[in-house]
Amino acid sequence: MNTVGHLINGQIVNDAARLQDVYNPSTGEVSKQVALASKATVEQAITAAAAAFPEWRNTPPMKRARVMFRFKELLEQNAERIAQMIGEEHGKISHDALGELQRGIENVEYACCAPELLKGEHSKNVGPNIDSWSEFQPLGVVAGITPFNFPAMVPLWMFPMAIVCGNCFILKPSERDPSSTLFIAQLLQEAGLPDGVMNVVNGDKEAVDTLLSDERIQAVSFVGSTPIAEYIYKTASANGKRCQALGGAKNHAIVMPDADMDNAVNQLLGAAFGSSGERCMALSVAVAVGDAAADALIEKMQAAMQALKVGVYSEKSNDFGPVITKAHQQKVVGYINSAEEQGATIVVDGRNPQVAGYENGFFVGGTLIDNVQPEMLSYKEEIFGPVLQVVRVNSMQEAMNLIDAHEYGNGTCIFTRDGEAARYFSDNIKVGMVGINVPLPVPVAYHSFGGWKRSLFGDLHAYGPDAVRFYTRRKTITQRWPSASMREGVSFSMPTMK
Ligand code: NAD
Repeated sequence: MNTVGHLINGQIVNDAARLQDVYNPSTGEVSKQVALASKATVEQAITAAAAAFPEWRNTPPMKRARVMFRFKELLEQNAERIAQMIGEEHGKISHDALGELQRGIENVEYACCAPELLKGEHSKNVGPNIDSWSEFQPLGVVAGITPFNFPAMVPLWMFPMAIVCGNCFILKPSERDPSSTLFIAQLLQEAGLPDGVMNVVNGDKEAVDTLLSDERIQAVSFVGSTPIAEYIYKTASANGKRCQALGGAKNHAIVMPDADMDNAVNQLLGAAFGSSGERCMALSVAVAVGDAAADALIEKMQAAMQALKVGVYSEKSNDFGPVITKAHQQKVVGYINSAEEQGATIVVDGRNPQVAGYENGFFVGGTLIDNVQPEMLSYKEEIFGPVLQVVRVNSMQEAMNLIDAHEYGNGTCIFTRDGEAARYFSDNIKVGMVGINVPLPVPVAYHSFGGWKRSLFGDLHAYGPDAVRFYTRRKTITQRWPSASMREGVSFSMPTMK
């Protein structure tokens, strides 16, 4: 059976002491194994990265950017192969996997702007013959820890910008679908990156804890579930590291009575069930304002869901695939059961989908639940499955209060034709990313991505301009070259410009 190893100092390394099974979620079978890095293996990667840093730090930004240009081309040339790898281990349909990759490539394109992004700030004559400038220096060795649901895109949020800013990187991808991530790192190597600048260690808590405690790691970017994000943020911060930790979500869409209901239903279908709902920006709750809007939404959604196709990743006509593991399938079904037990109405029931030829796959069908109440478990927690819940309220303010009261604040959206309402909503809602008739308001690569409340621990958001700040340290230099005729006497007062 194939084993997925690590990429350390430009070489594939197998650390076979501990192995974990990797499943094909469409068939339910083990397809390969992944090596779980020991502390010593992670330290080997950190040592390689630290050794590569001095030269890489001094490589001109334009040369660093050229590696990213070649990397982008290699990603495009290998897109189908990467999508296939994602499909085999994650289960998402090829069109969705290609979409995820494309959003990742856009972060590489943004990283190609490094010479412009790193130009710094300059002021001439801040005092007599005194110039001052701020430059943005790389931190050193930085780490990224990523989730299973975007094995290509989320790592690409991190390492292209970190590396182009002059840092060396250690990536710890999800152990559940490691192959595409490792392959992408090999493409970066092929693009001409010097050995040791980019390293991948596969693994679990042992690898993560080594990264969090090693004093050579300067900063940690994390994306995953909220309990782990909080742990990473607290531990990394306590160890003196810069940290950004993006967590879970519960994204609400307000459906106003004046919304174009057919459009809202189409948008909600993709945003709730695409990628089996395993997206941190998935819309998992529709908040319908008024019973008329709720009834129309349920009726149209129920009808549209008859056409949903759940199945194997390789069949392009499928809308979404299985969830990641058997345990997760059971967890999603458990949430549907709990909603039913707590009095919600199961309108479309996806608990027993029939997928011919793939009877052992980890499938959950699209599920629609009406009359959900805020105190229900299925409302309070992140389900991360193809389940759309409908909460009925009487006013937009009530809908906004509901969203603001939720512990997560990643994304949200409003469907309306009323510009005044939309403006009030986007201005006041306590959520980091807002869509107005846009169901998945995932910022483009030249903006930054991040939620509020318990969806993000830290100050700076992921990718975009915030990533340049996260992966660099500001240094401000003040310079004077006094001529002999200008020599000044001693002064003990604070220097000022009068
Ligand atoms: P997860 O938290 O289980 O795992 C994320 C990473 O943390 C993995 O690399 C994993 O190996 C590591 N990890 C897991 N348990 C750990 C522990 N006890 N100690 C140290 N490290 C540990 O998340 P997941 O199931 O892979 O991904 C799904 C979650 O990620 C969902 O909650 C989803 O909302 C979230 N997510 C958030 C965003 C965002 O941008 N906010 C994006 C994608 C996914």
